[in-house]
Amino acid sequence: MSPQPHKQGKSAKKRCEKFCRPAFFCNFAKHIRNAKTQTYALMFATTLLNWFAHNGRDLPWRHTTDPYAIWLSEIILQQTRIQQGHDYWLRFMQRWPRVEDLAAATEDEVLRLWQGLGYYSRARNLHTAAQQIVELGHFPDTLEGIRQLKGVGDYTAAAIGSIAFGLPCAVVDGNVYRVLSRHYGIDIPINTTQGKKIFTLLAQSLLPTDQPAAFNQAMMDFGAIQCTPQSPRCVLCPLQESCDALHTGRIDQLPVKQKTLKVQTRRLAYLYLRHQGQTAIRRRPAGDIWQGLWEPVLLADTMATQLPLPEKTAAQLRSEAILLRQEVKHVLTHRILLADFYFLSTAQRPQLPAEYIWIPEEQLGQYALPRLIENLLAAL
Ligand code: SF4
Repeated sequence: MSPQPHKQGKSAKKRCEKFCRPAFFCNFAKHIRNAKTQTYALMFATTLLNWFAHNGRDLPWRHTTDPYAIWLSEIILQQTRIQQGHDYWLRFMQRWPRVEDLAAATEDEVLRLWQGLGYYSRARNLHTAAQQIVELGHFPDTLEGIRQLKGVGDYTAAAIGSIAFGLPCAVVDGNVYRVLSRHYGIDIPINTTQGKKIFTLLAQSLLPTDQPAAFNQAMMDFGAIQCTPQSPRCVLCPLQESCDALHTGRIDQLPVKQKTLKVQTRRLAYLYLRHQGQTAIRRRPAGDIWQGLWEPVLLADTMATQLPLPEKTAAQLRSEAILLRQEVKHVLTHRILLADFYFLSTAQRPQLPAEYIWIPEEQLGQYALPRLIENLLAAL
């Protein structure tokens, strides 16, 4: 339940003067124009920037204003933690130092370098966006222009716009939701339209327009290092005096998330075929997970409308094969995959649909494979 500021009496009013909280719930738009609120916003920003100056992470893409390098880091970091993202970013920058180089690469090359990060549509979008930029002749330098790039949402556009071009737009990601919801004691679910709107307005109202890059990066780092999901470092926090969650004992209750859809389980069965040093793979079709990546022979899939193999062939191959791994678990957003992995070495090449190709086994590493398949292949 959201707090009811008007019913909270004197003590709440006192707290309001200190933290500006009830007014926030009464009339947000009015609240952010209020002079007192602006003073607190300035104090919040100054405290945060000061913290950032001493504790901010030293990352290579923070030493450049090259929008390509910054964009690349943002897309990679949507997928992984800083340490792993750092390595991938370096690999991409070494392989394709300019956006023109990335645009000229093949999709397979991009997927290959992306391998291990998962969510391969992001890699495909990255590649398409590089081509959009090259076609445009320059990296777009307005929020609207950046937002037009394939795979760039509001958060990424704000991050690139503020960091590369100094545009005064606040980023709102998981870290920002956490810091703001705790500091201001806001229990509106962050994954609702209302929640997103309010947190975006609040973040924007706090942003010092002359330092958008530093402020946004400070918010990201503060959430990642100081105000962490578990065990935030409140004792050493420069915002502790004004932190609502700390004073009301609600740190572990904020931010609030509305319950989402049930996670579905999808069962798969793969067969690694070996015939005279060759194996059969196919490219995953559009409109499903792992689009454009490669996989061994798919024997079963509880969510596929149609299997690539005729049922009879699949049953025949499965009966001859050896089961190497069973129910290997792989978690995707809203989905858990459980995969069985079979192996069959055969003197006669089985008849497979045309979408399968036979390749020398030692060349398998040249094809972009989903992480789950890589794990299964390790059993060979
Ligand atoms: S006092 Fe604790 S909960 Fe509040 S902002 Fe600081 S680290 Fe986060």
